[in-house]
Amino acid sequence: MKITAIETHVCHARMRNWIFVRVLTDQDGLYGWGEATLEWHTRAVVGAVEDLASLLIGQDPTRIEYLWQMMYRQHFWHGHGIVRATAIAGIDIALWDILGKVAGLPCSKLWGGPVRDHIRTYCHLGGGKMEDFYETSSEDAARFADMATQAVEAGFTAFKAMAVPPTLPLEGLKPIRTAEKCVAAMRNAVGESIDIMVDCHARPSPAMGLQFAKALEQFGLFFLEEPCWPEEIEGLAAIQAAVATPIATGERVTSNSEFRRLFAARACSLCQVDITHCGGFTEARRIAALADSHRVGLAPHNPQGPVSTAASLEFGFSQPGYVICETVHEDVPWRQDVVKEGFTVEKKGRLVRPNPRPGLGIEISLAEIKKHPFQQEIPQQVFYTDGSVGDW
Ligand SMILES: [Mg+2]
Repeated sequence: MKITAIETHVCHARMRNWIFVRVLTDQDGLYGWGEATLEWHTRAVVGAVEDLASLLIGQDPTRIEYLWQMMYRQHFWHGHGIVRATAIAGIDIALWDILGKVAGLPCSKLWGGPVRDHIRTYCHLGGGKMEDFYETSSEDAARFADMATQAVEAGFTAFKAMAVPPTLPLEGLKPIRTAEKCVAAMRNAVGESIDIMVDCHARPSPAMGLQFAKALEQFGLFFLEEPCWPEEIEGLAAIQAAVATPIATGERVTSNSEFRRLFAARACSLCQVDITHCGGFTEARRIAALADSHRVGLAPHNPQGPVSTAASLEFGFSQPGYVICETVHEDVPWRQDVVKEGFTVEKKGRLVRPNPRPGLGIEISLAEIKKHPFQQEIPQQVFYTDGSVGDW
């Protein structure tokens, strides 16, 4: 069996261009789907997939670890930069989809699963609609409470909100009180049986992140995400040591050696590895083993397209330390037209039951993708009150 072609199919989904990767083989009708979506870097990732393809054409697609080592090591520059790690991920996910189809088994069974009966999912406020989730000001606490109620009415038992305003490296009490009021409004709206997560988007400095973490501790958050830059390992560790709230990070960390340093420093309680950015299932499985050895839970970052979601769920059915899966369902109204999924979602509780089909169990519609050709992603930029450049 040989790989004959590696294609990319770009589908414009408003804030992101979904980059689907399809690996074709010389066996009739046998191919695999992967995803390598990286907002604002679409052309770079498409080019990186093309560069990597030259290593893989003619190779046996079932030698996945061997091929992963080729992609990671054989172009001199190791493949953990975000663009190449994402390109490798897109191809790696597709190779596992092929192997599942060859074996006639869902990917999770290739790794010894399923290890659980269902996976719990959580949503973004607004279901991932860009304006609701990313652009609603945390000063509008009532709007956050309304959207929290809507998430619960949609069946979710957990949701995430961006309730922390962007701040300069040091700012006074106002942003802290704003975040407090916003989270209080959501907690009052949904009660204590619903889990609330707050994403700081790595905007705060370690000093501000510590203040937000302490101020929000009273609300019993399920987790507080990226309270400072992920590369500020000591800052994260200081925040985690100061509060009982679990600190989550990892969506921008792309290699197991970086995760090793995070876990060794006790810098987080939850690992948000992104399977589409960290080199795919092959590297994510190594990262999951590291997390497990530190008793750090897994909750993959997954605001991208439908192949990323299927991959995050297949992974979850194979990983004992998996806690919850991030999902979006309202990012574009035609999301479900692009994909046929193998797993099923129960409306009440938004629990996912395993996919019985081989591989990822999905089929992607090329005809639907063609309706949404590449467009430059809508910019998301943050500037502070003094006009200086902030983190989005
Ligand atoms: Mg995040």
